[in-house]
Amino acid sequence: MPSVTLPPSVRVIVRGWLNCNQVVMLAPGDNVLVDSGYCTHRERTLELLASRAGLDRQPLERLVNTHCHSDHMGGNAAVANAYGCRITIPAGEVKNVEPWTPQSAWMEEFDQRADPFHYDDTIDAGESFEGGGFEWKAYPAPGHDMDALMFFEPRNRILISGDALWENAMGFVWPGEGANPYIDAARETLATIERLAPAAVIPGHGEPFADAPGAIARVREKLDAFARDPAKNARHVIKSMFVFALLDKQSMPLADVPGYLARVPCYRNVSERFLPPGELAEWLVGDLQRSGAISVADGLLRPTAIG
Ligand SMILES: [Zn+2]
Repeated sequence: MPSVTLPPSVRVIVRGWLNCNQVVMLAPGDNVLVDSGYCTHRERTLELLASRAGLDRQPLERLVNTHCHSDHMGGNAAVANAYGCRITIPAGEVKNVEPWTPQSAWMEEFDQRADPFHYDDTIDAGESFEGGGFEWKAYPAPGHDMDALMFFEPRNRILISGDALWENAMGFVWPGEGANPYIDAARETLATIERLAPAAVIPGHGEPFADAPGAIARVREKLDAFARDPAKNARHVIKSMFVFALLDKQSMPLADVPGYLARVPCYRNVSERFLPPGELAEWLVGDLQRSGAISVADGLLRPTAIG
């Protein structure tokens, strides 16, 4: 049961960790979708939009992204193909998706995928769009993604937070020694959310929730710990990225893990800078197994979370 009541014209399809949530805003002749999920689950996303969000045999006019990471825009092309909607991305993300190359949105860096798409226009902080009979104003939400936006509806005090705030965490922030601009930006974003005082938060991942102050306090604690201990942050980033990759692949032979970690740039870059040289694969698999994030059976790693 969701802990918040949303207006009937605002529908949330709660997904997992590979796919972000989809927010559908229904208004006659002007239906809007926020964020499209990961590309390998595009068929499922289209099915859910039709069956659960009321977009069966209905047009979708516009798709708006909170940010251009693969789990939020990977399905943009599929949704635009199915509905002919226009696509709006945060203005700051243009440089990350145009021109579209294997390096776009850091996909090669992380071994992720997204179908190439064409955006029609951009939205910047301070600008608004209509959705579900309400006006949603864009606020800067840097930290996890320095170009991300979040959308706030002041009448019902609903915030679509993307990966800037989840109920018990947020999207990872890059580790850095000393002053860390990503952590500073994330803290600023939390202060913005505090000022907005939302009655309901629709996060990029997980169920919508009401207790924004509680969530903010939990995330601040994590950011403080990451600022004090960049290696802890580095371990968190590596674990998050690897579980994400496993959700995409569904399984990976245990024997392939060291080669995979050596091959995909983000693991090498982060571990070289922050972790002692040695058995990255052994530590990673052991840690994720102990925390219950993965299972290992018959020489195969599998994720335990839903995609
Ligand atoms: Zn996300």
